[in-house]
Amino acid sequence: MDKSEVLKFPDPRLRRIAEKVSEVTPEIRARAEHMFEIMKDDKGIGLAAPQIGWNVRLFVMNVTGEAEDNLALINPVIANKDGRCTMEEGCLSLPGIYAKVVRPEKIVIEGTTLDGEEVAVEAEGLNARCILHEYDHLDGILFIDKVAPAKKRTLKKKLKKLEEIYKEQKRSVAAK
Ligand SMILES: [Zn+2]
Repeated sequence: MDKSEVLKFPDPRLRRIAEKVSEVTPEIRARAEHMFEIMKDDKGIGLAAPQIGWNVRLFVMNVTGEAEDNLALINPVIANKDGRCTMEEGCLSLPGIYAKVVRPEKIVIEGTTLDGEEVAVEAEGLNARCILHEYDHLDGILFIDKVAPAKKRTLKKKLKKLEEIYKEQKRSVAAK
């Protein structure tokens, strides 16, 4: 039984455009802190609010596992992108699926922290990769959308399997 709170592909809630946060309230802070817990429990390095069915423009990440590297961004905007690089990605919403994706190498992202502070974060390497991946979730985009067609064909079976699991779980919820 899947005890994770993270929505799995092909849940349609992963495909919505998330809404802007108008004010950073204590409720939002608490929920974002909870997202760090979920992310850790599921051994992820990033988690976007839509992945837990919360349709707001917010994500959390930590690529090192050190508490001081926790980053939460609200209403993020990519202010600058530079270069291109290929890296293998995975996603807590797509268990067992890994594939190479081409994305910008360096970025600047602006957003609001949980303290309500406006920040601009420069990132490269794995940090940039994680930010861009999480940012995409806010627009309903999954990394498999960006995988080369030839590779995507090889993932077909695994994606089909996830679709079957999803249908099965929906049926068992409906039967209760
Ligand atoms: Zn993801």
